[in-house]
Amino acid sequence: MKELIVKTSDFLNAKCIRRKVVCPKDAFEGLCLDKDFTVNLRAEKTDNVNVYFSGDIEGAYRLSCARCLEGFACFFKIPISFDIDFDGSGTINIAEEVRQLLLIDIPAKPLCDDNCGGILGVAQVTDGGDYNCISSETGDELFIKEKWKQLLKKD
Ligand SMILES: [Zn+2]
Repeated sequence: MKELIVKTSDFLNAKCIRRKVVCPKDAFEGLCLDKDFTVNLRAEKTDNVNVYFSGDIEGAYRLSCARCLEGFACFFKIPISFDIDFDGSGTINIAEEVRQLLLIDIPAKPLCDDNCGGILGVAQVTDGGDYNCISSETGDELFIKEKWKQLLKKD
């Protein structure tokens, strides 16, 4: 993605440049992005060797819900704030920084919804932290639901 590279020559006419870079969803391996994502970039040359980058990264991950295992789009807007020195050839490529920001932002236990009922639609967490069973169950379903309630209470 050459739009994520800035050069000393980019700052000949301005101290600050802005770019909106649309990156393909498969730009980085193993990042499970749902669609193309956007890097809203502001680069300000602070001195002859250093550039301060700000802005944000907007898009969505394609994740599996930790409770019901259904796939869903998890939207993100990650702030950018770092500074980097030009390399020997007078360029800075921020692709690796963007990749790392995306990587550390992925939720460890993503939920499709705060009230997701899980695989069986067993429990709904209420504000008080109680679990409300959905009714009309046979003996087996009731047993499984009780097991789920016990498991969920351990968290
Ligand atoms: Zn879910």
